[in-house]
Amino acid sequence: MVLDTEIVTELVEEIAGRDVVQLVELIKGKVDVSEFKIAEKLNLTVNQVRNMLYRLYSHNLVSFTRKKDKKKGWYIYYWTFDELKAYNLFLRLKKDKLKHLKERLENESEGNYFTCKSEDCGAVRMNFEMAMEHNFKCPDCGKVLEREESSKRINAIEREINEINRRLEIPFVETVKRAPRKTPTRRIRKTSKKTTTAKPKIKTTKKKTAKKKITKKTQKKKTTIKKPTRNRK
Ligand SMILES: [Zn+2]
Repeated sequence: MVLDTEIVTELVEEIAGRDVVQLVELIKGKVDVSEFKIAEKLNLTVNQVRNMLYRLYSHNLVSFTRKKDKKKGWYIYYWTFDELKAYNLFLRLKKDKLKHLKERLENESEGNYFTCKSEDCGAVRMNFEMAMEHNFKCPDCGKVLEREESSKRINAIEREINEINRRLEIPFVETVKRAPRKTPTRRIRKTSKKTTTAKPKIKTTKKKTAKKKITKKTQKKKTTIKKPTRNRK
């Protein structure tokens, strides 16, 4: 299961812009995606892609590693979308909104708004304090202000609250496995295991040297493979 598409789309659109949604959909669930690959897949320039990624980076939603291109001498950046941080940010924004809506609901429910019922003064609407200042009379026509029928507004706010609560119930399941596993790693490990267990049985010197070479190789590879784990958080 992937971090809910609905959540991602809504969040990314809100904080980074609609154009970034497709980028996130591309890198979500993957680790260390080359910015050149992203640019190629989205048919954009690397600079455009970086601009989009920085918008996410400013909200801590992506992390990167970089490697120097030995031939060209520049750095290539590899990006990972942080689903957990995205989810937490989503929760935080929604909870803020919820708090705001509940305050509004409270005000509306208390019937604290007053309007003028005459047709020409449709826009006159004030809270209790303001209405009191005007002695509960319309500043435009002088008619007595009436407590507003707020059931429609209340219903609308309640619907919004329910919608947010529904989204807050969407569980979070992280899909990214932080330690990238590439199939060659497994194969190497298997062969290295075999060689170590097989070692004592080998008696001919020729074979021994051949096996030794393999273990040396695998040891080298093992250490280079460990590097990406540094980026774990
Ligand atoms: Zn009026």
